[in-house]
Amino acid sequence: MSTTYIAMIVAILMGIGLLVGIGALSLLSGALNFLFVKPRIEILKSKNDSTFAFTFKWDQDAEPVSFDQLRVHLFNPFGVPAEVVITREFDPSNVDFVREIDLGDQFKKILTATNLEKASVEVEVLASKDSVTHTQSFKGDVFVKKFTESTATAEDVANQFVVEKVKPRFEIPERSFISPPLPKTAKQLKMATNPMFAGEFAGAGGGAAAAGPAVENFNIAKVWIEPGCIVCDACEAIFPEVFEVTDSTCIIRPGAPLNDGLRMQEAAEACPVEVIKFTKAS
Ligand code: SF4
Repeated sequence: MSTTYIAMIVAILMGIGLLVGIGALSLLSGALNFLFVKPRIEILKSKNDSTFAFTFKWDQDAEPVSFDQLRVHLFNPFGVPAEVVITREFDPSNVDFVREIDLGDQFKKILTATNLEKASVEVEVLASKDSVTHTQSFKGDVFVKKFTESTATAEDVANQFVVEKVKPRFEIPERSFISPPLPKTAKQLKMATNPMFAGEFAGAGGGAAAAGPAVENFNIAKVWIEPGCIVCDACEAIFPEVFEVTDSTCIIRPGAPLNDGLRMQEAAEACPVEVIKFTKAS
């Protein structure tokens, strides 16, 4: 057998070995993911017998949804009551969270049901808008034991779930005080962003020929933000009396002044995604 054939066989074997290795690694990573990133409900110490404190953790990269409902379901075919279902909504969360929710007197019926050792309790966490549900089942007596014997309270573990929301960062181009030569154009040079001051600056930039009258201010009838805000803060920097940028969007402050249309226009023009809309008062 020539050395060329031997080299080819070795190369083929190495290729097969590489493929097998990659397959094994991917299976291992899937198994680890299944074992350690499984959605998990943990029962915490509640303040009283009608509230239910719990934590919920899941893989947010694999399941980017927002959970907003809790359902506690007792199946107790050999005891009394035979069945109790309690559903409550809570503040939605798209990251691991802790909640303590008032389930009322119905919850006391679950805790005091008879024959709990033959019953089961399902705790479901639902993302109602995304139709996703995660369920954890407990034997009835185990559920009550965990409920009564847990020592960590919602406050104790809440700090573990604080996720610092980072606002998107934008690159600020490097600026120089030495201006490049202006392109030759027949258009008039615009010297001010805010049209209210355009007249004042026009003389300095282009002489009397470029000067225009200052634009008259106007009142606003209505201002609103359409979906799509990227929380860049530009509007609030220009008109903080009107715009308030929160962690996830921008809102119009209650009682915002509507008598400075030019500044409103400046803020709307500065919005990189053009979601600020307004109408002029007639
Ligand atoms: S300028 Fe536009 S994108 Fe930026 S915070 Fe205001 S509304 Fe949102």
